[in-house]
Amino acid sequence: MSKQGFTTRQVHADRQLNKPEHGAVHTSTTNSVLFEFEDAQGIIDVFQGKKAGHVYSRSSSGAVAALQNMVNQLEDGVGALCFATGMAAISSSLFSLLKSGDHIIVSQYLFGNTRSFMNTLADLGIQISFVDVTSLQNVIDAYQPNTRAVYTETVANPVTQVADVQGIGRYCEERKILFIVDNTMTPPPLFDAKAMKASLVVTSLTKYISGHGNVLGGAVIDTGLYDWRQYPNIKPAYQVADVAQWGLTQIKKKGLRDIGATLAPSAAHGIAVGMETLALRLEKSCHNAQQLATFLENHPKIANVYYPGLADHPQHFIAREQMQHGYGAILSLDLVEDINPIAFLNALELVICATHLGDNRTLALPVAATIFFENGEAEREKMGISETMVRISVGIEDIDDLVDDFANALAQFDE
Ligand SMILES: *Cc1c(COP(=O)(O)O)cnc(C)c1O
Repeated sequence: MSKQGFTTRQVHADRQLNKPEHGAVHTSTTNSVLFEFEDAQGIIDVFQGKKAGHVYSRSSSGAVAALQNMVNQLEDGVGALCFATGMAAISSSLFSLLKSGDHIIVSQYLFGNTRSFMNTLADLGIQISFVDVTSLQNVIDAYQPNTRAVYTETVANPVTQVADVQGIGRYCEERKILFIVDNTMTPPPLFDAKAMKASLVVTSLTKYISGHGNVLGGAVIDTGLYDWRQYPNIKPAYQVADVAQWGLTQIKKKGLRDIGATLAPSAAHGIAVGMETLALRLEKSCHNAQQLATFLENHPKIANVYYPGLADHPQHFIAREQMQHGYGAILSLDLVEDINPIAFLNALELVICATHLGDNRTLALPVAATIFFENGEAEREKMGISETMVRISVGIEDIDDLVDDFANALAQFDE
């Protein structure tokens, strides 16, 4: 049978893999932290990894396992782990895989909290080179013999720089370097991280994947492309059974179990429901973003629009090569100098001023004064963030209503 389409798999695959009880179409969310076994040997076998099963909900439970299957098939991986938030997935994975004295090459255009976490890793003795990932050469130049991993996002927030993921992926494969891609901004079917040779995909389930702004979650997915025998930091205790699982086993034990940022079963259910409409929502929000970007680009009161779908975006060509079905739904803008961005935000009526992205609703935020405030002006400048930049996360409203809201807000600044 040929491979089914994206949404067909999204709404059916999990049930086909693991039948929920009584023909229920959703895996039930139990509130039980503990699990009882028929006899004592049962719990021993699960503890020792001889049998599959759940023993304590910090490490695994039914609803979370069902979501892990869905997330894994989303990225076509060999396994996935879910966490309480996207940041938990990122920090738990990197804490599990890195040691003091290691070096990693990291995009200089990062989600602010990930950037802050990288600084924490640096304090713990991990060397970090922040590089401009729009060009592969910068990654090559940063390579050292102790380089353990390259870490990048696909499209950066808020300035929408597009990483040369394909080029970096090929280079990492050749050099046998672990390649970690944060695919939060462009989840499948927009961006196929495995086709770009990512080893691990990390993602926030809070954003597009759940989509409704009502649940937090994160995940790490192993694409199966990386040979963990090449990775020097896997503990002997986790070098057991299938080599493809060594990395996730270490992340599960040292990250999920020991750090304990576990996803709640009720949250797993909420995320799974949101995921069913991922492709439909993305199609609408990407289409809206493209139209809104075009409208804003041609508006006399807008100085700059940053959106990879615009032909004059500096990485439009890379984006066209790497992305399918749309260029994401984040865009940023600079207003002409005489408009105060705070007054502009207050003039928007439909659009919500809030710090979040990937929601069904369109959101706007003055980024320098909020999420990138702590970074300081010098670091903001390096990331390409102007002091008056406004970020827009485009939702699924009807496009005419969005354009009207922006047009009306801008008209308030007519002489
Ligand atoms: C939001 C976000 C995260 C963190 O996700 P949370 O679920 O909010 O912890 C990580 N990376 C990117 C690119 C994000 O946009």
